[in-house]
Amino acid sequence: MKKLSIIVPCYNEEAVLAESYRRTKEVLKQLTCPSEIIYVNDGSRDATRSILDAISVSDPDVKVIHFSRNFGHQPAVTAGIHHCDADLAVILDADMQDPPELIPDILALQEKEEANVVFCVRKSREGESNFKLITSRLFYRFMNHMSEVAFPVDTGDFRLIDRKVMNEFNRMKEHGKYIRGLISWVGFKQIPFFYEREARIAGETKYPLSKMLKFASNALLYFSKKPLKMATGLGFAAVLVGIILAVWVTVGKIIGYSNAETGWTSIMTAVVFFGGVQLLTVGVLGQYIGILFDEIKARPEYIVDNTKNFNTNPSVSCKARSESPKEA
Ligand code: UDP
Ligand code: MG
Repeated sequence: MKKLSIIVPCYNEEAVLAESYRRTKEVLKQLTCPSEIIYVNDGSRDATRSILDAISVSDPDVKVIHFSRNFGHQPAVTAGIHHCDADLAVILDADMQDPPELIPDILALQEKEEANVVFCVRKSREGESNFKLITSRLFYRFMNHMSEVAFPVDTGDFRLIDRKVMNEFNRMKEHGKYIRGLISWVGFKQIPFFYEREARIAGETKYPLSKMLKFASNALLYFSKKPLKMATGLGFAAVLVGIILAVWVTVGKIIGYSNAETGWTSIMTAVVFFGGVQLLTVGVLGQYIGILFDEIKARPEYIVDNTKNFNTNPSVSCKARSESPKEA
């Protein structure tokens, strides 16, 4: 019989965890297959750690991975997939924006269509700022335009993946993982499931603007070489403008329609324009070099502090036995 894992990244989610666990467990109880939840505590500084530990004591089907610090949402999901030995996995946010009650329908669709991936497409989104809605719509469309791989739009990490996809994912060595892109990239049979995204049940978003920007720039740089091509294009355009300017000034001088030595404005315009183009293209190159630098260092994507319920052996502290063994 197939086993199902639910992978849940958590960062400072004390406000939602009890309810989140209750709702997810309720759904899993209705399934005929064995199931488990893998919570990945991404270095939370609130009570997330103790709440998860308490849940793992009362429920052996809850596994917990504690990171040594905050590594980010994508490394947390990656760790969940790395530690998953089930046949199927659903990636779910802790805040219940993606309702776990949809899991039976997603499983049924996967079985009916014999799909390897069921990705959940947001028909609508509740309780999110206009800024987030607009930037996210633009981001998915922009990514699709820039990337060499086609991605489904309005789709987050909420999806079901099977063992085949997890095995391929586990072979990926890159460090700045854009998971939804990588899962599209592996291929196999991938089908959409449309749903309405709900509002967070409690607490604040854990994705401030700085994290959103890092996420978006990682996605772009890891999935597209177009910025490099655009930099080259910009360079060519600048050279063309330079040639036209030079011809205009020279011919003007000979024929006499241009008084070049008084052309302070045109010189300044050219200097600023070419300076800008150079800085921009060097900046784009720098971004890719930065990524190469990170990849060459090959540091682990995350560091696990400890885990719960992965190993059934109880942990035994290392100290002298209270009773010395009896003499024979
Ligand atoms: N998350 C995480 N590490 C982070 C930021 C977020 O593990 O550094 C988790 C978070 O706990 C949640 C999921 O990733 O389960 C999505 O985050 P959030 O709901 O805050 O993002 P939003 O839905 O607002 O984009
Ligand atoms: Mg959320």
